[in-house]
Amino acid sequence: MTDFRPETRTVHLPQPPLNGSHPITVPLYQTSGFVFDDPDVFADGMGRPDGAFVYGRLSNPTVRSLEEAVAGLEGGVGAVATGSGMGAINSVLFGLLAPGDHMVAQKPLYGGTASVMSDLEERFGISVSYVPEYDPAALRAAVRPETKLVYLETIANPVTQVADLPGMCAVAREAGVLSVVDNTFASPILCRPIEHGADIVVHSTTKYLSGHTDVLGGIAVFASDELYRKVWSFNVKLGATADPFAAWLTLRGIQTLPLRMERHCSNTRELATRLDAHPAVSVVHWPGLPSHPSYELAAKLLPDFGGVFSFDLTGGREAGERFMSSVKLALLAPSLGGVETLVLHPATTSHRSLTAEELARHGIGEGTVRVAVGIEHVEDLWADFEQALA
Ligand code: PLP
Repeated sequence: MTDFRPETRTVHLPQPPLNGSHPITVPLYQTSGFVFDDPDVFADGMGRPDGAFVYGRLSNPTVRSLEEAVAGLEGGVGAVATGSGMGAINSVLFGLLAPGDHMVAQKPLYGGTASVMSDLEERFGISVSYVPEYDPAALRAAVRPETKLVYLETIANPVTQVADLPGMCAVAREAGVLSVVDNTFASPILCRPIEHGADIVVHSTTKYLSGHTDVLGGIAVFASDELYRKVWSFNVKLGATADPFAAWLTLRGIQTLPLRMERHCSNTRELATRLDAHPAVSVVHWPGLPSHPSYELAAKLLPDFGGVFSFDLTGGREAGERFMSSVKLALLAPSLGGVETLVLHPATTSHRSLTAEELARHGIGEGTVRVAVGIEHVEDLWADFEQALA
């Protein structure tokens, strides 16, 4: 390298050899491509996810570590990491469905996903039927000869309904239909949908998996190698691939996922229980409370009930808005799954596209407050909530 001019030497930077040791943590391979000695190895890597690393849109060692980590946690055979949760959802839906197909989705559904389903119907000739998340009989009745896919969410937003994954996935399997489960709210610590019969699990890794509100990402995990290769190949064309730095941050977050989930859940239990007994609160939605419609199902399916809950105040919308502008420690912000406690108003933010009737049907009031509980000391959170309620 010393023979070259500075213009060349600054391009071809030296790399330390790994002589006899390797790093403890997964290194960040911040490169868009890879160098080959052998043209045949180069060619082979182009066509499959498990060949040599070729180009960042196909695969990258840091991204592959994340894919293997999450596939392992979810009990899948492979995973495709993407630039966002919506990237994973779109890669699965557009990679597996074609015009003329039919799919069945649960309602309630995350707003971004619901809007993709509208596009599938309006622009891509894929019809969508909706059934309640707890009703395998309704799903059986909705399945048609051209049905290809059933779409579920382990825990829905913001009223935290829990899907009957074993019942719904069994109906899908009997009918020869693929089941896809968005497991973002539960994380693989609380639920592994493949164990309940799901074929594909999707996550917004932006949330609990990364856990620090500093990265956007998604992942799809597959129970079968055939599905994995099919969606990997479509995702390479779609270009929704994860960036190595985002994957590296997510891997770093995953190392504390079990500890964080424990605290998210215990803090939520405390806040939800105390709010449920508070005279200014009319209803609390959290599947760990016996009053929640999903309580029995959730108690069978989940070891704990998650870190998101919502509630309504007896004073309605005005009281809800006053609460959100009065909290000091909790932050008024979108998203969930990070270490900080966040509050938002679903009717004007995450669910603003729903009509008043649809909001009511999903149990979302005009003044409903959603809380994504963080890992702060619970007494500090309660003191903040108490002063805001007062
Ligand atoms: N799925 C669920 C349940 C979500 O809550 C979100 C985002 O809030 C998404 C998917 C989309 O994820 P992303 O924002 O990473 O695209």
